[in-house]
Amino acid sequence: MALAQMNARAPYASDPARTRGRRHAEPAPANRTEFQRDRDRIIHANAFRRLEYKTQVFVNHEGDWFRTRLTHSLEVAQIARVIAASLGLDVDLTEAIALAHDLGHTPFGHAGQDELNRCLNELAPQAGGFEHNLQSLRVVDELEERYPDFNGLNLCFETREGILKHCSLANARKLGDVGQRFIDRTEPSLEAQLANLADEIAYNNHDVDDGLRSGLICLEQLLEVSIFEQHYRAVKRQWPQIADKRAVAQTVRQMINTLIMDVTNHTKQSLAAANPQSPDQARLCGPLVGFSSEIRQQATELKQFLFKELYRHYQVARMTHKARTVVRELFEVFLDEPGLLPPDYRRDGQPAQARAIADYIAGMTDRYAMLEHRRIFAVDESH
Ligand code: MG
Repeated sequence: MALAQMNARAPYASDPARTRGRRHAEPAPANRTEFQRDRDRIIHANAFRRLEYKTQVFVNHEGDWFRTRLTHSLEVAQIARVIAASLGLDVDLTEAIALAHDLGHTPFGHAGQDELNRCLNELAPQAGGFEHNLQSLRVVDELEERYPDFNGLNLCFETREGILKHCSLANARKLGDVGQRFIDRTEPSLEAQLANLADEIAYNNHDVDDGLRSGLICLEQLLEVSIFEQHYRAVKRQWPQIADKRAVAQTVRQMINTLIMDVTNHTKQSLAAANPQSPDQARLCGPLVGFSSEIRQQATELKQFLFKELYRHYQVARMTHKARTVVRELFEVFLDEPGLLPPDYRRDGQPAQARAIADYIAGMTDRYAMLEHRRIFAVDESH
């Protein structure tokens, strides 16, 4: 009973029965909601499976125990679902957005994406650069080829809106419906706001875990970060004999729990104050899903620590350097000699050809990008 009450749909929740619809009209699903259908389509997409071999911080072959974009997306979905249920939001829409949020990521994490953007801007400026959120939308709107009557997955407006977390004004103007909010400066649905925050909760915590496991950061360093230190000390007080490995796992669990409870409680207060009576009203209220100021500060401190100590670590920097080289050399060689591209990616003239090369590279997994690089540049590699 308590759980049923907790899951009751709030008036500000997105309602699958009142979706703004799909780009191509389709009959309503018989045995699931429109948002459940979106989630299911995302899980069956090719780009979703490729997330298994794309990385966040560590390159895929560095160790089987590190997070990949697939396990990251599952962790984001798990965190977002729990909070969505306690806020009375649509759990399926939240989950669909969380599972799809990284579909447009290039191989090699941010390094790959930044380099692809630089390549486009320098070598094919008329193509309009590379933005990973826009690429995620492009995957679900255009690039997946699975359905007889349309390109992409033909998802609902609400799912597409949630996937497009950021977007330049120039691109927003070209997008129509999902771009409009960047021009109007309104917010996306509460489900989208939540998926976005769950992303941050997930990566901050798993980067602590993976960072320690890799040996690139150590416990002593983390004890200078207040949110880690508080929870770690509490764990050691409760279980004085606990082994380091379990102590870290328990600390991360407790940090995630603290962040989840804080978002839930703080957002409940914001919703009570703003009192939106519909999802559209909620879009006009400014950001409503968020941390309390105290936890915001602690989360930011952790983020800054990871930026400085993990993402800038010299061993990560070496990987980043290699990743940039692979992406740049592939882009340059395909632009110079489109005849080296698989036929599906050849286009007549620019900027269409440059965009197709960007789609090809962005779709690659880490290991595929390295293999393709060897096939083209290593004389003793077969084709
Ligand atoms: Mg993410």
